[in-house]
Amino acid sequence: MNPILRTGSLLLLSACLLMTCTTSPLNRRQMLIFSEAEMAQQGEQTYRQLQQELPISADSRETQYIQCIADYVVAALEPAERGNYVWEVTVFNDEQANAFALPGGKIGVYNGLLDVAVTQHQLASVIAHEVGHVLANHSNERASQAALRNVGLAAAQILGASSSTIEAIDVGSRYGIFLPFNRTQESEADAIGVQLMARAGFDPEASIILWQNMMATGGPSPPQLLSTHPSPASRMNELRELMEPALAIRNSANSRGINPDCMAPENNLQF
Ligand SMILES: [Zn+2]
Repeated sequence: MNPILRTGSLLLLSACLLMTCTTSPLNRRQMLIFSEAEMAQQGEQTYRQLQQELPISADSRETQYIQCIADYVVAALEPAERGNYVWEVTVFNDEQANAFALPGGKIGVYNGLLDVAVTQHQLASVIAHEVGHVLANHSNERASQAALRNVGLAAAQILGASSSTIEAIDVGSRYGIFLPFNRTQESEADAIGVQLMARAGFDPEASIILWQNMMATGGPSPPQLLSTHPSPASRMNELRELMEPALAIRNSANSRGINPDCMAPENNLQF
């Protein structure tokens, strides 16, 4: 075999041996290179860094309100979904209408989101959606794809096998945490999120209203969630299809006494 091809094959083979083939919660096949523990560690590290670098909200009522909603969402997780992680939420003082959840249970909410997600139910829909990305290992999937692309590149450049593979994988994991999600992953996070918020007792229809609010505040510079998350109209249609079972789940949660009552801060009295 020609030496270039041989080096390339070796690199790709070593990447494939590291890979775990698994399925997402919605039974889609996924290829994951990194272990859950590695991703959680990366998530935690990134989170601590963000807490150092970004201004954190000093408004205790606002923080309590968001914490209350996140607590309901996290309480609705199955033990296997919750894992052994300490689930945390941090409210950042930033006008962006955005939120994220990192592997290892680290949730971040920018308080600009409160202008768009104006009820506890709408805010819960965003948090549950972001948690949905975590439950479906989407960061791991993106990081794995990035690492494999880098391995392919390394093979083409015939760099030293083991060290370049490690380096490529390292780069993949570092950047995978915040790579944009693709359309399939977004739909998956929507489906998981709607179910999760319903289990937590929130009204799943708020997920559709949230997108209407997002579109209404769009204008020339749309909110961050809109620009990173594609085609709101088709998303709302997909969400509508999920409503019937989700409403049944919510009614069942409510009848078992799970009735979230998180009080919005004064400047935002809608319930
Ligand atoms: Zn998303």
